[in-house]
Amino acid sequence: MGSVVWATANNSSSLEGFLECLQSHSELSNPISAVLYTPENSSYSSVLQSYIRNLRFNESTTPKPQLILTALHVSHIQAAIVSAKMHGLQMKIRSGGHDYEGVSYASDVPFFILDMFNFRSINVNIENETAWVETGATLDEVFYRIAEKSNVHGFPAGVCPTVGFGGHFGGGGYGNLMRKYGLSIDNIIDAQIIDVNGRILDRASMGGDLFWAITGGGGSSFGVVLAYKIKLVRVPTTVIVFRVARTYEENLTNIVYRYQQVAHKLPEELFIRMSLDVVNSSVRTGEKTNRATFWTLFLGDSEKLLSHE
Ligand SMILES: Cc1cc2nc3c(=O)[nH]c(=O)nc-3n(C[C@H](O)[C@H](O)[C@H](O)COP(=O)(O)OP(=O)(O)OC[C@H]3O[C@@H](n4cnc5c(N)ncnc54)[C@H](O)[C@@H]3O)c2cc1C
Repeated sequence: MGSVVWATANNSSSLEGFLECLQSHSELSNPISAVLYTPENSSYSSVLQSYIRNLRFNESTTPKPQLILTALHVSHIQAAIVSAKMHGLQMKIRSGGHDYEGVSYASDVPFFILDMFNFRSINVNIENETAWVETGATLDEVFYRIAEKSNVHGFPAGVCPTVGFGGHFGGGGYGNLMRKYGLSIDNIIDAQIIDVNGRILDRASMGGDLFWAITGGGGSSFGVVLAYKIKLVRVPTTVIVFRVARTYEENLTNIVYRYQQVAHKLPEELFIRMSLDVVNSSVRTGEKTNRATFWTLFLGDSEKLLSHE
C-alpha cells in the first residue's frame, strides 16, 4: 500500500528555508508566492479562522501554523508535499475544517496548513449519473449543483451543510439517505490523489488498497485527495421532511423505547433520526426536562407515507 507518514519538524527546519524550497519546486506559470500566508501577512488570521469550525481551537493558546498555503493549482500541492518532506515540517490538510478535534488546523509540533478551499469545483453528469467533486467543496454546494441539473437525483451524505468533502469521505459520511443508499463512501467510484512522491494517481493507478484506505480510512494519512467521483442516487420528485419533539411529560420514555424497537424495521424509504437534549419545562416553571426530537425524511409523498401506518 502506498501509505504516507508525514515527518515531524526538527530543530534545523527554518521557515525561510521552507519558503525557498516551495518557490524552487513550483512552476513559474503558477507562482506559489500568491497563495502563501505567514503570520506577518495581514490576512493570515482571517484565512486561518475562516475554516476553524470548532471555536475551542481558536484560542490565543492554540498552536498556530507557521504558514498557510491556499493551493490554487496542483503544482502548489506537489511543492508542499516535497518541501514538507525535505524540511521535516508537519503538513495539515484542511478542507471544510469540521474536524471535531481540530486536527486539520492545530498540532503540538511545528506545522503548516495546506488549505483546499480553492479546490471546490463540482462537475455533475446527469446522463451517467455521476459527478466529480473536488475535496474543498462543501456538502450544500454539491447538493445544490445536483439539484440544479435534476430533481430526481441526490447523494447520500451528512446533514451539516458546511462539512467539507475532503474530511467527510475520509471518514465515511452518513446522513438522511443512509437507510436506502448506505454511507457516502458506498457511492464513490473513483478518486484522484497526490501521493507522498507528488504523483497524481487515480483509482486504477493507486490500486485497491489505497482506494479502500481513502474511502473511510482517514484520508490525511495517505496523501492529499484532490477529488472524488461519486455515483448519484435516484430520489422521488416529492419527499416529506418533518420533525416531532416530545418531552418527559409527554411520554418520552415509552416513545424512545418503542422507537428503538421499530426504527430498523420500517421501510428503508423512511429515515428517522433521534436526538436527546435538555430544555426548560413548559409545565414545571423554572425546571428542566428531557426532550427527544425525531428528525424524519421519507422518500415519497404523504399518501405513501401514511400507508405505512
Ligand atoms: C457540526 C458538524 C456536523 C457534522 N455532521 C455530520 C453528518 O451529518 N454526517 C457525517 O457523516 N459527519 C458529520 N460530521 C463529521 C464530519 O463529516 C467530519 O468531521 C469530517 O472529517 C469533516 O470534514 P471537513 O473536510 O469539513 O474537515 P477537515 O477538518 O478539513 O478535515 C478532517 C480530516 O480530514 C483530513 N482531510 C481533509 N481534506 C483532505 C484531503 N483533501 N485529503 C486528505 N485528507 C483530508 C484532514 O487533514 C483531517 O484529518 C459533522 C461535523 C460537525 C462539526
